[in-house]
Amino acid sequence: MDKVFQLTQNISFTLGDALLELIYVIASVLFIIGLKMLSSPKSAKKGNLWAAVGMVMAIIATITLHVDKEGQAIGNIPLILVAIAVGTVIGWAIAVKVKMTAMPQLVSFFNGMGGASAALISLMEFPHLAHGAATAAMGTGEVLAILLGLMIGSVSFAGSMVAFGKLDGKVGDIRAPFLRVVNLIFLIVLIGFIVYIMLQGNVVPQDMMPVIYIMLAISLIYGISFVMPIGGADMPVVISLLNSFTGVAAAMGGFLYDNQAMLTGGILVGSAGTILTILMCRAMNRSLMNVIIGSFGGGGAAASSEGGTVKEISLSDAAVLLNYSSKVYVIPGYGLAVAQAQHLVNEMSKLLEANGVEVKFGIHSVAGRMPGHMNVLLAEADVPYEKLIEEKDASEEMASTDVAVVIGANDVVNPAALDDPSSPIYGMPIIKAGSAKNVIVMKRGMGKGYAAIENNLFYADNTRMLFGNAKDSIQKLIEEIKAL
Ligand code: NDP
Repeated sequence: MDKVFQLTQNISFTLGDALLELIYVIASVLFIIGLKMLSSPKSAKKGNLWAAVGMVMAIIATITLHVDKEGQAIGNIPLILVAIAVGTVIGWAIAVKVKMTAMPQLVSFFNGMGGASAALISLMEFPHLAHGAATAAMGTGEVLAILLGLMIGSVSFAGSMVAFGKLDGKVGDIRAPFLRVVNLIFLIVLIGFIVYIMLQGNVVPQDMMPVIYIMLAISLIYGISFVMPIGGADMPVVISLLNSFTGVAAAMGGFLYDNQAMLTGGILVGSAGTILTILMCRAMNRSLMNVIIGSFGGGGAAASSEGGTVKEISLSDAAVLLNYSSKVYVIPGYGLAVAQAQHLVNEMSKLLEANGVEVKFGIHSVAGRMPGHMNVLLAEADVPYEKLIEEKDASEEMASTDVAVVIGANDVVNPAALDDPSSPIYGMPIIKAGSAKNVIVMKRGMGKGYAAIENNLFYADNTRMLFGNAKDSIQKLIEEIKAL
């Protein structure tokens, strides 16, 4: 009788396991399809939904079907459900309330939460390694996954919180030459800790907990000191790098729990973040090694000198100039997002096109405050994707452009990046708006950009300023163009 019971139990375990694995595979496929769909603004919303469905499936399957090596089902289900409910309500409330311009901070915050979760998994699981045995051999893949999850997750959490504060304008840059050395030492010490723990032979994991706590503390401090000196125009690189850290830390959890969905999700986030980091590095003309040791500078320190007087343009003159041009390039930046003028800019471009003007949009990879910010903003206003031209191609077309209309952009069109070696953004590719025959800059005043440096484009001979909130200015321009 006992044997029959045992057999039925084994069969149901096997069936349950098979079903769980199948659901994990389906969830992983949904993550991949979702990620693929995120590559185009048209399908991005649906892609997000597909990936979310995959995640819900994986969570439900884990709670209901997962059994550990001893055949135990998941415990604490009421607690898990309460945690999910609380997290869902908080996440939903924040997402509904958040302004479009505060989105980058939110992304940083959520990324930090992912890192923290990965680090907590490691903290919880390390002492459990000894369960059922008095001693445990340390040099296993499981231990390595736990230690890497702890280190990378904590660095990502602390770094993302600093990035959150910086994007929110609450945390300034602390830049000191010795930080480069200190950061390198932290990194070496952390790797040293991992090697030390891995080399321990027969130790009870609980006895190693003080070492684990020290490692946690150093990782958190390293996360802070690593992001602290990076600021100004260099923030996009660090944001995408932290993103990839969280993905890798989550993948460690997936490896630890033998959870395919978590592993795939982590790897996808990790690799997508890494690719984005490389692209951002290219956009900023920085090397990845400099980013990792937190050695490159940000804005604010050196400022280009002011270059003369600015010339203003009236609304009616701007309307005439635009309407009787052959080719106009709109170069949007963070100010367009602040003004929420994306729909109006689309309306203006359609109006100009109806009057025979060719209109294109020059999109800089780091314009705005998050990767792809301008693409998302303009897609929301249904600006055709084919009209969005990347910085290199847009720059090449500037000489044949009659008017470059810079709307709320500053750093991404700052010529100091090309001609001022003392500038913190020197070397960063820009959209060469100044090479167009005429430049109209729409901004509220002479406020600086994120890198907090002067912009000599505003004083150039072919530049005229149209001061005011971008939304009001464009609205009035549309009326002027219609009246022509
Ligand atoms: P900037 O931040 O350089 O400049 C934005 C300009 O918009 C300001 O000079 C401001 O001038 C103007 N502005 C603000 N509000 C309005 C408004 N309502 N109407 C009209 N103008 C307005 O923006 P860019 O997009 O050129 O550059 C982005 C910068 O942010 C880069 O340095 C980039 O590295 C950094 N960054 C980018 C991230 C990313 O992932 N994309 C992340 C973090 C930082 P005024 O006050 O005079 O109106």
